[in-house]
Amino acid sequence: MTKVKYLILGAGPTGLAIAHTLAALGEESFLVLEKEETAGGLCRSLEVDGHPLDIGGGHFLDVKRREVLDFLFGFLPESEWREYHRISRIKIRGNELDYPLEANLWQMPVDDQLDFLESIAQAGCVSDSPMPEAFDEWIVWKLGERIAQEYMLPYNRKIWSTNLSELGTYWLYKLPDVSFRQTLQSCLEAKASGTLPAHATFLYPKNHGYGEVWKRMGDALGDRLRTRTPVTSIDISKRIVNEEFQGETIITTIPWPLWTAVSDLPPVVAGRISSLRNASIDIDYHPETAPTDVHWLYEPDEDLSYHRILYRSNFCAGSRGYWTETNSHRATTHGKWNYRNDYAYPVNTIGKPDAVAEILSWAEKHRIVGAGRWGTWEHMNSDIAVAHGMATARKLLGK
Ligand SMILES: Cc1cc2nc3c(=O)[nH]c(=O)nc-3n(C[C@H](O)[C@H](O)[C@H](O)COP(=O)(O)OP(=O)(O)OC[C@H]3O[C@@H](n4cnc5c(N)ncnc54)[C@H](O)[C@@H]3O)c2cc1C
Repeated sequence: MTKVKYLILGAGPTGLAIAHTLAALGEESFLVLEKEETAGGLCRSLEVDGHPLDIGGGHFLDVKRREVLDFLFGFLPESEWREYHRISRIKIRGNELDYPLEANLWQMPVDDQLDFLESIAQAGCVSDSPMPEAFDEWIVWKLGERIAQEYMLPYNRKIWSTNLSELGTYWLYKLPDVSFRQTLQSCLEAKASGTLPAHATFLYPKNHGYGEVWKRMGDALGDRLRTRTPVTSIDISKRIVNEEFQGETIITTIPWPLWTAVSDLPPVVAGRISSLRNASIDIDYHPETAPTDVHWLYEPDEDLSYHRILYRSNFCAGSRGYWTETNSHRATTHGKWNYRNDYAYPVNTIGKPDAVAEILSWAEKHRIVGAGRWGTWEHMNSDIAVAHGMATARKLLGK
């Protein structure tokens, strides 16, 4: 039996940040178990058609906290990243508009602008009607019927492949918030108005895929990272994993539903876990290089299975081709190369916050800590996963 103080399940950005922060604070008794061959989780890259391809989908670094940036630069120095100004567009009525739509209606022909301005003018948020609790109703309330029907509802049906009335609104602070006044102003001045979306500028490695920084982080852990080691059994009371590794505390960054299959959870907790939903995403690579300057394009047309195209040749130096991202339920045809991410997006269902709170409270009583995207079922970006990992490690050590 290998015994450690901290047994970390999963070597994605969260598990890696926890491990390195523990080490930086002088704690040596920890071990990370990872099922894949390489560290990085959803942020991994593989060589496809001669260049890196980000197998978890389009990943770009936009870090708000200096501490996180310094941490990442410790593994992939600043000089190895290139800064880009985001070019992302939405395909609508045959036009490609900059994102977000509400700030860029001015790029459409005038008749289309009028249709969409009318839609927002009639939206519930403009007439001060109360904000609805379900996501599909919120979309109509925020942008009006026409924009909802032509863009937001079909796009979200594609990415989530679920009934949108089951999604809550507590996570919508993540979406750009452009007021009706700002939309009008942008049409009158023929330029974008309102706050810039996330990733307005972003970093991407100059000579590698996004996975490089995480791979180096994993390599730096040496034998404290066991790759190709899937968690196959957990004895909760003794905190023994695979009958081989024992932790005084277990930190789990792997999806909670995997626990149901490998451990004896109390029925109440298992029930809460079974209420959690996730979206799976297929990545399909196509070798043709498209004549566009766009980094990525959103595609709301429901006749097309994919919802986003990533033009690799526009951010991954020297590469060609593009890849599409498709909810796995909709993935009927595949590109020259395909990869399926079973756990890609946690889905923000109405009941999720209560379910997660109950799972984490049970876990805490058993010296099990949930961390990162899957441990907290939060739709967090990799920089936030790192910040969360760092904070988790400090809390464990009381520092
Ligand atoms: C399509 C898409 C686009 C995204 N774009 C961006 C972006 O542009 N910028 C950004 O910063 N973030 C982006 N993200 C978010 C980013 O991927 C996550 O924030 C980050 O990967 C979360 O890290 P994590 O360690 O919590 O989870 P994960 O990366 O999912 O890591 C979990 C780890 O657990 C391992 N594991 C699972 N099961 C087992 C098991 N049974 N045994 C052992 N190990 C196991 C997995 O292999 C994995 O390594 C995007 C995500 C998606 C899906």
